[in-house]
Amino acid sequence: MDIDVSIIEKAISKHNAKKVAIQIPEGLKMSALEISDTIEALGVTTLIIADPCFGACDVPDHDMKMLGCDLIVHFAHSPYIKTTEIPVVYVEYRSSLDPSPILSENVSKLSGIGKIGLVTTVQYLDYLPALKDILDKNDIKTFIGKPKLATYPGQILGCDQSAAKDVEGVVDAFLYVGSGLFHPLGIARATDKQVFCLDVEKKTIFSINGEYQKYLVRQEMKKIKFNEADKVGILVTTKTGQMNKQVFDIKSEIENMGKRAYIISMNFVSPEKILGMKLDVLVNTACPRIEEDLVFPVPQINWDSVRKS
Ligand code: SF4
Repeated sequence: MDIDVSIIEKAISKHNAKKVAIQIPEGLKMSALEISDTIEALGVTTLIIADPCFGACDVPDHDMKMLGCDLIVHFAHSPYIKTTEIPVVYVEYRSSLDPSPILSENVSKLSGIGKIGLVTTVQYLDYLPALKDILDKNDIKTFIGKPKLATYPGQILGCDQSAAKDVEGVVDAFLYVGSGLFHPLGIARATDKQVFCLDVEKKTIFSINGEYQKYLVRQEMKKIKFNEADKVGILVTTKTGQMNKQVFDIKSEIENMGKRAYIISMNFVSPEKILGMKLDVLVNTACPRIEEDLVFPVPQINWDSVRKS
């Protein structure tokens, strides 16, 4: 694996670090030892954090400080948490999969769109200027919005579609560059515009409208379950960047709806931790992706969706 060692070297020198914690997402774990060797060659001792890491919000700064580390090197994501107990240096991942040829071959699928908002995740940010050129040459005016939580123009996170919201008023539709439906569905939910996906794995462009309609039906069913529920579990995580500090207010709000509400706290969120609890429904206040990725023994719904109902 190619690592930009200079970023790490500068951070070690800036913070006079001696003990460095390394945090890598699951997909890079096969390179963990190699990464550790590379960083130790810079004259420090390292520790590999083996807990799963789902995003830049997921930085165990408190635990690493307790262990005596003086720097965390966080791989793959862009900066997110503003204040941490020990310094964090982000070594971002950029994909070598160029989406430009896919856009050139499929741009006709955007016919009728005059103004489009371009959004993506951190992996494909470097390709946005080339994609904008292609769209401009095809008479599609391109807009790239500024995010509130994410770091770069045009960048979205599962919990932050503000780069899309920023240009919603001037575009006819959005083009999401990446893979999977989680992010484009988030844009459809956050805006009133049609969303197209330039899927780098399927190598095509398609409208997500059909999938969005199915998603809305699933959400309606979950809202019905929530409305019918008597005992509601409120899922809160102790992960610094995902922790919802309004959880006691949420409990009061749910109890004011005539339900019993129980706050259930965990660090790493996993369904078996609530086995045996006789809940009717679970309200998720942590990463919104949990709703898509994990199957709990009871129906679960994101708190944002409850509030919108
Ligand atoms: S809360 Fe979820 S979507 Fe937001 S940055 Fe963290 S992992 Fe990503």
